[in-house]
Amino acid sequence: MTKLKTKTTLIAWAPPSMVYPAGIPFRVRVEKLEEGSIGEMDGAARTISLSSLPEHKPLLKETLLHEYIHAILYVSGISQILEDRVEEGIVIALECQLSRMVNFDKLGER
Ligand SMILES: [Zn+2]
Repeated sequence: MTKLKTKTTLIAWAPPSMVYPAGIPFRVRVEKLEEGSIGEMDGAARTISLSSLPEHKPLLKETLLHEYIHAILYVSGISQILEDRVEEGIVIALECQLSRMVNFDKLGER
């Protein structure tokens, strides 16, 4: 019983290496980010970066979804006409709703 529990704990969710927001390939990296940052999206570089800090690990699913939504807005050109704080509000609202509906194991699918 304990062994099974340990095994389950070891098979933790890992982010996909690629995601396809609006059909565009974005590389997903897990790396050291600026202090206080859990995730970042670089539209020009087609990259989403997630924090490698162990304490951020429980937040990575929602963070990937958050950055994925930013990437959709970037790719579609909508982020260019939104103030940063307006875009952030839209992204947070969508993330909160969608995180209850999304299958995180399928975020890397086209
Ligand atoms: Zn954001």
